Amino acid sequence: MSQRAFNFNAGPAAIPLVVLERAQQEFVDFRNSGMSIMEMSHRGAIYESVHNETESLLQKLLNIPAGYKVLFLQGGASTQFAMIPMNLLGAGQVASYVLTGSWADKAYKEAKLIGETHIAASSEADKFMRIPSLNEIEVPDNAAYLHVTSNETIEGTQFQEYPSTGHVPLIADLSSDILCRPLDVSKFGMIYAGAQKNLGPSGVTVVIAREDLISSSPKTIPTMLRYDTHFKNNSLYNTPPSFAIYMVNQVLKWIDEQGGLTAVEKNNREKANLIYNTIDHSNGFYLGCAQPESRSIMNLTFRLQSEELEKKFIKESEQAGFVGLKGHRSVGGLRASAYNAVPYESCKALADFMAEFQRQNG
Ligand code: PMP
Repeated sequence: MSQRAFNFNAGPAAIPLVVLERAQQEFVDFRNSGMSIMEMSHRGAIYESVHNETESLLQKLLNIPAGYKVLFLQGGASTQFAMIPMNLLGAGQVASYVLTGSWADKAYKEAKLIGETHIAASSEADKFMRIPSLNEIEVPDNAAYLHVTSNETIEGTQFQEYPSTGHVPLIADLSSDILCRPLDVSKFGMIYAGAQKNLGPSGVTVVIAREDLISSSPKTIPTMLRYDTHFKNNSLYNTPPSFAIYMVNQVLKWIDEQGGLTAVEKNNREKANLIYNTIDHSNGFYLGCAQPESRSIMNLTFRLQSEELEKKFIKESEQAGFVGLKGHRSVGGLRASAYNAVPYESCKALADFMAEFQRQNG
């Protein structure tokens, strides 16, 4: 087998090798059924046990309180940008958004298509290189919800603590940082995440919501875009993305085996520190993009003094076996996405490569 790459892709992203290997073992004949999980009915006992176990694993890992439901949906986090205001924004209310970067902006613009919106805080004046502090965030009384983007995948910023919103439900897009650290789910009305960064492959979107928010949707919304359809049918109204959900199941078991989210966070912080320390001790050769107190432990963004040098860095890193270090096309620069499944050794190798690149080009 060829060697595994040092995979820093932003999403779809690295999946733990043991998970891929387990899936490979079970690929052709799942639990002695004589078929793969992709070939069997989603109404049968075998698939159903995987489906329900995946919800239980999420409940365990995130310590999800009673009164919340896990949904497995399709259409990516991008579809949630529309479903949230369609289902939750009532007449006379506003949908309030904290604008932290590219993904928050996309969520906000989608809500604008549906109804009245409001900006609770924005760091645009700082080029989205920081997360607004909690006392900058103003939530109007008639807000249907406050939406935050927990981790801005492109800019490389992350909420370190979340606002308290009183009677207004807090909704968070955790697409790029779900399960990277413990989370107090009880603070939120709803959280959601596309799977393709920390949960598994693309194709399934996890929504975790307070049941009272999703148990009854406005009657005018088409069936598949209503939360109550999926809530009442345990995410089995139509054919779910069964293979993707099975892969999420395997990733969740792997996280559990690592010691759960406290252990995962410790590892993630050690990984991120390796890279941030290299940046901070480079005498300005590497420039961190995000302001230090807003830095993400998932997407680590940095620049070099010139685009030419950045191109050289990317080319030489690729030759050395690194993948995915080019920044998002909208902002340029460099980005290392060090999601849960990226091993410490990959980050150590990157820190060493960065130090060596500086020695040769500094
Ligand atoms: N939100 C965030 C924070 C993301 O990083 C992404 C994808 N990169 C999305 C939303 C959109 O997700 P999807 O592609 O699953 O629609």
